Amino acid sequence: MNIAKNVDHIKNQIPSYTSIIGVTKYVDTQVAKELYDHGITHLGENRPDVFLKKYHEIENPVTWHFIGTLQTRKVRDVINKIDYLHSLDRLSLADEIQKRTDQKVNCFVQVNVSEETSKHGLKKEDVIDFLKQLANHDKIKIVGLMTMAPDTDDTMVIRRCFSTLRQLQQEIQSLSLEHAPCKELSMGMTNDYQLAIEEGATFVRLGRCLVKGED
Ligand SMILES: *Cc1c(COP(=O)(O)O)cnc(C)c1O
Repeated sequence: MNIAKNVDHIKNQIPSYTSIIGVTKYVDTQVAKELYDHGITHLGENRPDVFLKKYHEIENPVTWHFIGTLQTRKVRDVINKIDYLHSLDRLSLADEIQKRTDQKVNCFVQVNVSEETSKHGLKKEDVIDFLKQLANHDKIKIVGLMTMAPDTDDTMVIRRCFSTLRQLQQEIQSLSLEHAPCKELSMGMTNDYQLAIEEGATFVRLGRCLVKGED
């Protein structure tokens, strides 16, 4: 494992307006720190317990992203420690965040563009109604949309998923909702980040290609 080499390789392909989130769910705190030391200052975790462990063990001022499904009963454990939540997908979760947070939380609405049953997120048709219901949640700022591409090798299908998310973002922006500027697109993982970048990703969530290298 050569973190420096992996980071260089990825950085060379990522435009400056796109932020790399180093997903550290596969690795221990030591490797997460190494990523940070190589300039990956945004880190992401998908499970509350593992996130909390790293949060307490890493002293550097990491920008923390919570990228996994968040159970309502876990909100209080993490919500005041993270900088971004990528998985807002239901009103009950928004209600709990509103109740438990000390400050405004940057949230991505997770959209299940591909409608695979294995994936979380709102159907794209339901996103705008959901956003309108959040207008009274003054602790929630919708910074953007997040999706995970379908499990397929068909690059056309993956590209269409990402471009659909971008079109939905544009539709939302045209509504000029004060609580939902929706400037960001969180899309692209190890297998598909190049496509995501071509389709306008502003955050890519990268795990394996940073800690293991690409094939
Ligand atoms: C694990 C995970 C990633 C990173 O996946 P890789 O394929 O290892 O790059 C990105 N986003 C979410 C939501 C994840 O759970």
